[in-house]
Amino acid sequence: MMLKNEKAIIVFSGGQDSTTCLFWAMKQFKEVEAVTFNYNQRHVTEIECAKNIASELGIKHHILDMSLLNQLAPNALTRDDIEVKDGEEGELPSTFVPGRNLLFMSFAGVLARQVNAKHIVTGVCETDFSGYPDCRDIFIKSLNVTLNLSMDAQFVIHTPLMWINKAETWEMADDLGAFEFVQEKTLTCYNGIIAEGCGECPACKLRQKGLDDYLEIRGER
Ligand SMILES: [Zn+2]
Repeated sequence: MMLKNEKAIIVFSGGQDSTTCLFWAMKQFKEVEAVTFNYNQRHVTEIECAKNIASELGIKHHILDMSLLNQLAPNALTRDDIEVKDGEEGELPSTFVPGRNLLFMSFAGVLARQVNAKHIVTGVCETDFSGYPDCRDIFIKSLNVTLNLSMDAQFVIHTPLMWINKAETWEMADDLGAFEFVQEKTLTCYNGIIAEGCGECPACKLRQKGLDDYLEIRGER
């Protein structure tokens, strides 16, 4: 599907997933603008990292203040005194912020309307389902309808990563000619370390495992 003449807004964090989606979007659309939400993430590095990537790729970048999120729902991503850990069986992880994606996607919709973009791109993914209910495909589809009804618009939400795993996300970056870029310039680590990260936190472990799996597959070709 080529939509060369149209414009897209991408929800962009500077991480592996959204950076891969950014390269995807740059190929699909004539014009892409990025939006990053600032909600007092543990590390200012995250905002800086997103800024640097957008500027290097020549992408117009909007940074929206969402610090109210921390007021509503203190959690491990915004508070130093809450440990980052995976959820126990049947529990949500400590990084879960209730309604975060609902809010982010809604604000992205309002921004899309404002800048006249028909398309909204997000790197959410159901495959490595980490327990965030508002990252599921059913939620995105439902929100797409809601956004269109609320603004009498015809947005199309794109989720290029929805059904692929972490190894396949690396493959997508590679196919887009962005493998090294994603490897060297993105931030996934909960401890705020760019590229390879701390190697210890759940996000680093997931990223590394995906990379190892992909390199193994690539090596076998
Ligand atoms: Zn880490």
